[in-house]
Amino acid sequence: MTSLTILGSAGGAPTRTNPASGYLVQSGSSSYWLDAGTGTFMQLARHVDPGLLTAAVLSHIHVDHSSDLYGLYGYLAFGPSGIVPVPVLVPTGAAEHLASFARAGDEHVFHSVLDLAEVTPGSSVSIGDATMRFGNAVHPVPAVVTRIDTPDGSIAYSGDTGPGSDLAQVAADVDLLLCEATIAGVREDHTYPYHLTAAEAGRIASEAGVLILVITHLAYGVDPDRAVSEAAAEFDGEIRLAAPGTTFTIGETT
Ligand SMILES: [Zn+2]
Repeated sequence: MTSLTILGSAGGAPTRTNPASGYLVQSGSSSYWLDAGTGTFMQLARHVDPGLLTAAVLSHIHVDHSSDLYGLYGYLAFGPSGIVPVPVLVPTGAAEHLASFARAGDEHVFHSVLDLAEVTPGSSVSIGDATMRFGNAVHPVPAVVTRIDTPDGSIAYSGDTGPGSDLAQVAADVDLLLCEATIAGVREDHTYPYHLTAAEAGRIASEAGVLILVITHLAYGVDPDRAVSEAAAEFDGEIRLAAPGTTFTIGETT
């Protein structure tokens, strides 16, 4: 069985009741932390020992997707520790950026506990139970969309992206697409080009032919029911909201 647990899903910033973006994918004995948004490290620790993570995967370096990586760093370097180094897959340019915040030169303990490796659109990596494939996301900093194939099924994750990304191709026929739906309503000329509307998320789910669409990263103040109905106007399949604490299972045998 493969599962996706929502650690946090608030768009752009944590709220009092919902951390920023962070997700846990588990397959067999492997566990993957997808995005390390603000507040998600402690939620991660409620489900798995962070010292036993198979890998962390960051879609991009915006703080609402990356800041809690330093929670993992501290846990491994100065706290209970674990099996190190933990592989951390990041987009182009992010490795140096993340290390510089920790003031980590080449010999620094940061690099003893975290093994940062940069991935590019079109590349794929196998770690533990899963093979991950990456595509281009449309965002102001280098960002990727991610597909994870496990023995039980497949999950795709948009990270943050505007229209025009590789997401529909990367997510082709997946069991579950976790897609940002930051913006409510119809896209206008002045609409921010680096995030998706809920309708666009629905359209991508249709194009990719996914089984379940889980919408996430709704901007603060967006009505979740409205977002679901706008996505549903474009996608006939099952649509769920990425509420914190929710777990979705794939390939469950009955
Ligand atoms: Zn972003």
